[in-house]
Amino acid sequence: MHPDSYQEQAAHYLFNTYARYAITLMKGEGAFVWDSQGKKYLDFLCGIGCTPLGHCHPALTQAVIEQVKKIWHTSNLYYSPPNIELAQCLVEAGGLDKVFFCNSGAEANEAAIKLVRKYHWRRGDKHKNVILSAAHSFHGRTFGALAATAKPEIHEGFGPLPQGFKYQSWQDTDAFCQAIDDSVAAVMLEPIQGEGGIHIPAPGFLKAVRAACEKQGALLIFDEVQCGMGRTGELFAYQHAGVIPDVITLAKGIANGLPLGAVCAKADVANALKPGDHGTTFGGNPVSCVAALATIQILKQPSFLARLKQLSAYLAKQLHQLQKQHPDQLLAIRGTGMMIGLELASHPREILQQCQQAGLLANITANHILRLLPPFIINEADIDFAVNVIADSLKKAITLKDGVAYDKK
Ligand SMILES: *Cc1c(COP(=O)(O)O)cnc(C)c1O
Repeated sequence: MHPDSYQEQAAHYLFNTYARYAITLMKGEGAFVWDSQGKKYLDFLCGIGCTPLGHCHPALTQAVIEQVKKIWHTSNLYYSPPNIELAQCLVEAGGLDKVFFCNSGAEANEAAIKLVRKYHWRRGDKHKNVILSAAHSFHGRTFGALAATAKPEIHEGFGPLPQGFKYQSWQDTDAFCQAIDDSVAAVMLEPIQGEGGIHIPAPGFLKAVRAACEKQGALLIFDEVQCGMGRTGELFAYQHAGVIPDVITLAKGIANGLPLGAVCAKADVANALKPGDHGTTFGGNPVSCVAALATIQILKQPSFLARLKQLSAYLAKQLHQLQKQHPDQLLAIRGTGMMIGLELASHPREILQQCQQAGLLANITANHILRLLPPFIINEADIDFAVNVIADSLKKAITLKDGVAYDKK
């Protein structure tokens, strides 16, 4: 893959904040995207889990076009039907009692942090202000969300960070629960960690945390920015765990690629924020909201979820087959539904590059995890194609002389 003229321009004019691949995407349709050379790729990453219904889904495109012709922006000084209808739709689908809209995952987590602190403050429990999160978590890049993210490397050079954040590994359930002391305002957890390498907590962990939170009067926030919106096979990831959190944050897939974030909360928690306490200019804009509404209406159909589960099971079966053939290279397969991490023994970059060359998009997270976040509209043939490409890429990558083996710590 050679840099095109866009990529040369980008180096001149854009901040160098992303280690981008040498691929310029021009258009998308369904599960496929095309680059500036006209090359077609099967998109098994969906942005980063942002287009669960694929690119330019006709029903969503139609909803957006209609809204764009009506009104683009209203400001939150006024009522706007799309965000009221979307809030109702989310609540009825399991999104707790009340919703606040913003524009991104980090903003949703930022709002959730402010919400839980204000909740305890209003109750006279001012000492309850600590946010406890898990090791290897990722909650976003703004200061509060960054402070909640237990990744020292992304804190570096940005200090001083806000106070009142602590971290604990979820490998040891008892130790985690003991860390929920009287100072903890809320525990913030991804029910499945995404950026950290697709990690699922031990069975019973989330239930134990819920019980410990109740005992200490702490709230429980689930960051479902990546694992929510059907990615696990249920609309909300908490629905697998049998644990109901007090607050849920959503973004990524919620509007199938348009910017939108949401904080869902139980009514007594949501009511802690009064007029003037929090807000955003663009949050819940009508165009993103109609896209989200159309997305959720499709996702929540029982037949759609049933097909999604069927496809996920097929993908898992094919990947486990692949692992049997390459046990030395594919050390583990983690995840559920359409959220999968393949733990690679070595050559992660080379393997990804081979996949891209063969027309498959995925990415590497946590150094050596090949992450797959496929759109839900794929079929068995797409899965076969992807698994064959990964198989070939594993074979080719190890024969590369310049490949650097991943140094497993
Ligand atoms: C991506 C992500 C975020 C941050 O979302 P942005 O929209 O990039 O701010 C937060 N939490 C989780 C779990 C994520 O995967």
